[in-house]
Amino acid sequence: MDDTLEVFSGNFTQQEPISEAGIAAALAVLQSGRLHRYNISPGEIGEVAALEVDFATFTGARYCLAVASGGYALGCALRALGVGPGDRVLTNAFTLAPVPGAIAALGAEPVFVEVTEDLVIDLDDLADKATSAGAKVLMLSHMRGHLCDMDRLMEIAEAAGLQVIEDCAHTMGAAWRGTPSGRHGIIGCYSTQTYKHMNSGEGGLIVSDDPVAMARMILLSGSYMLFDRHRATPPPEVFEGLKYNTPNVSGRMDNLRAAILRPQIAELPEKIARWTALYRALEAGLSATPGLRVIPRPQEETFVGSSFQFLLPGWAAPRILSLVARCAARGVELKWFGAEEPVAFTSRHQSWRYAPAQHLPRTDHVLAGLLDLRLPLTFCEADAATIARILDQEVRRM
Ligand SMILES: *Cc1c(COP(=O)(O)O)cnc(C)c1O
Repeated sequence: MDDTLEVFSGNFTQQEPISEAGIAAALAVLQSGRLHRYNISPGEIGEVAALEVDFATFTGARYCLAVASGGYALGCALRALGVGPGDRVLTNAFTLAPVPGAIAALGAEPVFVEVTEDLVIDLDDLADKATSAGAKVLMLSHMRGHLCDMDRLMEIAEAAGLQVIEDCAHTMGAAWRGTPSGRHGIIGCYSTQTYKHMNSGEGGLIVSDDPVAMARMILLSGSYMLFDRHRATPPPEVFEGLKYNTPNVSGRMDNLRAAILRPQIAELPEKIARWTALYRALEAGLSATPGLRVIPRPQEETFVGSSFQFLLPGWAAPRILSLVARCAARGVELKWFGAEEPVAFTSRHQSWRYAPAQHLPRTDHVLAGLLDLRLPLTFCEADAATIARILDQEVRRM
């Protein structure tokens, strides 16, 4: 490589430290010895119950439940809606493995819906499969933070009698025409895993306004007969008809993680502003790159720019592989969704062989030219501009 070329030295997987407020709250939980969510003194509201109240307020939801992971949240939501063995569940062909995994883990069958060039669910394909697939539930994944036209999606779902679970792993803090992501469907699921918008290592949050679905999820998560210790919860009578019939599938959150998360809710708006600035800096730096398609962001969408995607339409695999290698040599880590072999976090339907193989020509075409990079908040706008300069130069020389 030409050693006069600029090289980026940032780390694409390095998040910011937990804030002092989170560290202090975590230490207080450790000193108390009461890490289990139901291990509280009389009259005390534990960290998990308090987190649920705060996150319900943040999203405007009536009820909230904190759980062990985002993937657990998805499985719990499916169970609460009665999905079981043999049922077909519609979901995005372009998503991350825990989404089809949650469906398959119940013995249910994912039916994939195509993705568009704007990286959202193809609403025409959805309208078609909503009536033909025999599914009662759509698990909608807002993959990489791109929101589809949620008004039209909800119309399609309502017309077909589909219940919508939203996977908001990449859209915590995002909105469509002012309504937060996670608040359009019956249940919204979030992840607080390290690479998402709040970081507790592992963790998940579920919101809903539906009392029966939420009571079921609280019971499923392993509340034993202690559900009265929840605060963002339906009233006790809702549990009466459910508590002997809902299996325990333990997946609770603990007070330590909740303590780390609680201050992060208040920190989120400021972080979203920084993510958006990074995203816009990268987008501006790539706006004139020939042959590279930046994903348009609709006016109605409030997004969180925690990652960046672009398309190289029509590029053959060897050319993309060589671009990825050249960028890597200059410190810019790109993920290519068209690779034959799944690398790290898998997002290609062909790698999910626990689901029946499906014919998804439009998705395959989009993924063949799709590249992705993370934008951790340890980067500054100058870093985003450097990344854009390197990408622009390498795309032009290919
Ligand atoms: C991260 C992620 C999840 C949930 O993942 P966990 O690792 O189980 O918290 C779900 N969907 C998408 C699209 C994700 O990226």
